[in-house]
Amino acid sequence: MALGLLFGAGLGVTPYHATVTGPVVERVEMYLDRSRSVQEQERVRWIAGGTVEEETIAVLSKNPVGRDTLNALRDRFGVIRLPSFFLSRQESSYAEHSSAFDAVYLNENELTSRGWTVEDFLRDPEKQRRLIREMDSTILHELTHAVQGRRSP
Ligand SMILES: [Zn+2]
Repeated sequence: MALGLLFGAGLGVTPYHATVTGPVVERVEMYLDRSRSVQEQERVRWIAGGTVEEETIAVLSKNPVGRDTLNALRDRFGVIRLPSFFLSRQESSYAEHSSAFDAVYLNENELTSRGWTVEDFLRDPEKQRRLIREMDSTILHELTHAVQGRRSP
């Protein structure tokens, strides 16, 4: 079967799971930030719109390891269920994964080091696609955590 058929089904559609959990996680984190010092605020923002998921599937499906990882994230109907993607302020890592929220957090430094603001990034699908392409090995790494997180009880 062509890759387009294998991976194309969900393209352009924000995963249902993310449309539910994305805004909730963002609101909870904004609330928690209010009781944190400025230096400790995480500034979690949900990356809405479905572009990062679409580009993740497009990029990772180009190589065997990426395809294996995507296949391990399929649900019982065969649909690839990616974690929700967020931005957050992090000390040193490129990205983090939360099993509890089934979420990947990209470090907002990855935007600022490219000369972008968070707001620029959140409304620009082309920047989102570029970041996913340039962070492909990091994304793959975080998705392996997502696979492990779903397997553990
Ligand atoms: Zn890791």
